[in-house]
Amino acid sequence: MADSMKAVQAMSFGGPDVMQLNEIEKPEPGEGDLLVKIDGAGVNYADVYLRQGARGGDLPMTMGLEAVGTVAGMGAGVSGYSEGDRVVYRGGTSGCYAEFGTVPAKNACPVPDDVSDDIAQALHLQGMTAHYLAYDVHPLKAGESCLIHAGAGGVGHILIQLAKAKGATVYTTVGTVEKAELAAGYGADEVILYRDINFKDIVLERTGGKGVAAVYDSVGASTILDSIAYAGFRGVVAWFGDASGRPPEIDARILGAKCAYLTRVGLGPYVADRETLMRRCNDLFALLADGKLSVNVAPTRPLAEAAQAHTDLESRGTVGKLILNP
Ligand code: NDP
Repeated sequence: MADSMKAVQAMSFGGPDVMQLNEIEKPEPGEGDLLVKIDGAGVNYADVYLRQGARGGDLPMTMGLEAVGTVAGMGAGVSGYSEGDRVVYRGGTSGCYAEFGTVPAKNACPVPDDVSDDIAQALHLQGMTAHYLAYDVHPLKAGESCLIHAGAGGVGHILIQLAKAKGATVYTTVGTVEKAELAAGYGADEVILYRDINFKDIVLERTGGKGVAAVYDSVGASTILDSIAYAGFRGVVAWFGDASGRPPEIDARILGAKCAYLTRVGLGPYVADRETLMRRCNDLFALLADGKLSVNVAPTRPLAEAAQAHTDLESRGTVGKLILNP
């Protein structure tokens, strides 16, 4: 193959073993696109859903939704970028578990010189998710309380810090003692080991039976009904993921007891235009520069270990951001 590269592809839909490292054609940037030499590919829970076939797609499928790297070429009509510029992105036109990727220039964000590739990536898809949840889905206010599931996870540990920066009281659930220590270190007021303690009772007890202003639920099937139960009067249940599986259909009448709001949200519409995308990115970089935010990056792995990274993520064995290096 003349212009080829290594990439991890799902050869069928299924478990981590369906992925393999292949030699495939290097992508060409189309009009308005950047060609990026990928230095790090973010592993996100959404990759698991894609690999399992929950969202369909053509096979073989080059995996990966997020990358950081340097501009290595440009399609027609791109301005404002030069070869060698460092960018982080989601919304590419080719998969990111690869040596090169293409992305519409409008979806790429310049990385400040003093921010490492790994940190830029940890702040990107997961950081922007935490940002829209805390700032827009339910704009937290000082004095309010919230509950965040999976507080040591890629999204969770950033969301804890954004909620604390806004002056909210944060309850969070985690699966292990190690994760509890991490979540407390990121500022959670109370960390609930949900395997040992009934988290619903604790949250209701601590809030005098009132419940919380917002619940951020990425776990789905095993938590969503309890999340609704401990939302306070007119509280918001922001359901943004299904790590434990898709819940059964929910009868909206159960919201009536607390007049709660249940919303199923995704990042795409919250970064739909360039201005909003850059605002979220720059807010996160500014919080990092001001020392108000720190991020946890797991030891990185080579591309060839993508299956192990997925296995770890699905078995709840990871904390912070997972990254594959081409
Ligand atoms: P995490 O690092 O948070 O990993 C998932 C965590 O979920 C696990 O570590 C585990 O933490 C918890 N969990 C609880 N039950 C299960 C289960 N049965 N199987 C696996 N994990 C479980 O992943 P990410 O930060 O990448 O993503 C978190 C969630 O946010 C995902 O559901 C993802 O789809 C969603 N997401 C949604 C976005 C959106 O805009 N809608 C964008 C980005 C992510 P513990 O052991 O502490 O319980």
